[in-house]
Order: sequence, then structure tokens, then C-alpha cells
Amino acid sequence: MPNIIVVGSLNADLVVRAPRFPLPGETISGEDLKIIPGGKGANQSVAAARQGASVAMVGRVGNDSFGPELIDNLQQNGVNTSYVQIDAQTATGTAIIVVDANGQNSIVLSPGGNGRVNPADLNQVSFSDYKLLLLQLEIPLEPVLAAAQRAKEAGLRVVLNPAPARALPEELIALADFIVPNEGELSLLTNQPVHDLSSAENAANVLLEQGAQTVIVTLGANGALIVSKSFTKHIPSFKVAVMDTTAAGDAFIGGFASALLQDKSLQDAVRYGCACGALAVTKFGAQPSMPTWEEVEGFMSL
Ligand code: ADP
Repeated sequence: MPNIIVVGSLNADLVVRAPRFPLPGETISGEDLKIIPGGKGANQSVAAARQGASVAMVGRVGNDSFGPELIDNLQQNGVNTSYVQIDAQTATGTAIIVVDANGQNSIVLSPGGNGRVNPADLNQVSFSDYKLLLLQLEIPLEPVLAAAQRAKEAGLRVVLNPAPARALPEELIALADFIVPNEGELSLLTNQPVHDLSSAENAANVLLEQGAQTVIVTLGANGALIVSKSFTKHIPSFKVAVMDTTAAGDAFIGGFASALLQDKSLQDAVRYGCACGALAVTKFGAQPSMPTWEEVEGFMSL
């Protein structure tokens, strides 16, 4: 069984559809509120668990009604939550999301417990029980870096999803076996435009020069690009009817990580991640849209 440890964020996504965004000072009516479990760390935990990986998560929620609900949801998806703390000093991370009639998002993120994850939260974790560490950037950098260091010492592979993008210390770049940005994140990280395969390759090369080992750029409907020192390979996407692109990247990463641990080649694992991402965009929401192992196997054999 592939064992994955995720150190990252849990959010309650509070989503309201409205005809348009309200102006400052204005009140408008929207549809019924949907409360959807989200947060990149939790999304990727669920994505990997639905692929049959054995997943444990490290994170913090607040002392409010959302916290236990998010923990319960992870448990229902088979994720081990013994390292998720309820922090009485703070609220649960929330994303307040308004979606307008054109499907555009406007989001206010309140980090809550995610902002209080710290290196001491890793003290209980026996990293050698796991084979792979998944990291994102919705928690402070200190625990991200500390987790990467602990994981490397214990011989784990480290997958870093630099989202949301922010300047990365070179030490962290060097600790990651795989850095997996989307086009916008890669552009922000490297200060380079990224709009097609060759500009994605150029920007990924900047990360390689900074010490990255392998960069996997996710390209939405264009699939993904693997860029390493020895080769570059484009993996095309699967054609699907798009319903909601939320968390496609999280589905990709959870699928990629679990495929890698099932001894698939790098290219096959990326292709598997692309299938997970494609299936996720056919459904609404973050965690509810993560495909199961059976769905992905059936889809890839079509
Ligand atoms: P993010 O959600 O982080 O912005 P992407 O949009 O790049 O990430 O999507 C991640 C992966 O999901 C892509 O590499 C691709 O394989 C798949 N994917 C995303 N959008 C589509 C789409 N419209 N059609 C098919 N596959 C998609």
C-alpha cells in the first residue's frame, strides 16, 4: 500500500452563486449557500486516498463547527486525521467564494488554523512510516521547509505543489523531487511569461537552474509538461466536457503521487494524473469531484 503524508491546509469553501458580484456597500441576493470541504492539502489527501493510497494528514482547524466537519469528511474518505489538531485560538480556514453568472470566481481566503501550522506540529510524525510527502503553500513556509527536511532525512520522495505561488527558498526547491506548478504559478515563480509549451519549458528550466530536479507543469486542457535535466516530455490531456475546473490540479497531484508509488514510470504517473484532473473537471466542487480508482481505470481503458 503506498503511504503518503500530506502537510497542508483544510478549508471550508462557502460558495454562493449570484447574478453578478456586489458593488462596495451593496447587498444582492444569491442562490443557496453550498458548504464544500476544500483546502489544497485536504483536497490532495482525498484525491490520493480515493486512488487507494494510505494517506495521513498534518494540519489545523479552528474551534468552530466547520473544524470537526472537515475532519469527519477526511475520515469518511479514509484519510488518517490523527495529526490534524483543533486549535482553540483560531477559526477554521474558509474560502468565501462568489460565482457570477459567467462562472467567474471572486474569493476571500481566511487562513484560520492553516496560518498556525508550525514545525512543532511535525514532532509526532514518524516520517519513516511513509514513502512520499505532499506539500502545498497554503500554510506558512517554516513547517513546509521543516517537513521537506524531515522527509528527505527519512528517505521519502517529496512532491511540492507551489500553490498559491510565492518566492521559494532555494533550499526548498532543492529538497523537492518534483515541483508541480500550473502555468500561472510557474510564471509568478520565475517572472517569465508562460503561455505555451516552449515558454513553459523555458520557465521550468529557470527552476532547474535554481536546483529543482524535475518540474511538472500542469497546462489545464493542454495536459502536462515534464521538464528535467535529461529530457522534456509533453503528456496531452484527455478530452472531457468541462463542468467546473476547481481543484483539477489537486486531483492531478493526488493521482500522480499514488501512481508513482505504485511503481508506474514518471510518464505513466503523469498520464494517470492527467486522467484524474480531466475527471475532476467534469464534476462540481473540490473534494466531491475527486475521482475514485475505479473511475480512473475505467476512463483510461476507454
Ligand atoms: P490547476 O487546477 O492547479 O490550475 P490545471 O488547470 O493545470 O491545474 O489542471 C491540472 C490537470 O488537470 C491538467 O494537467 C490536465 O491534465 C487536467 N485538466 C485540467 N483542465 C482540463 C480540461 N479542461 N480538460 C482536460 N483535462 C484537464
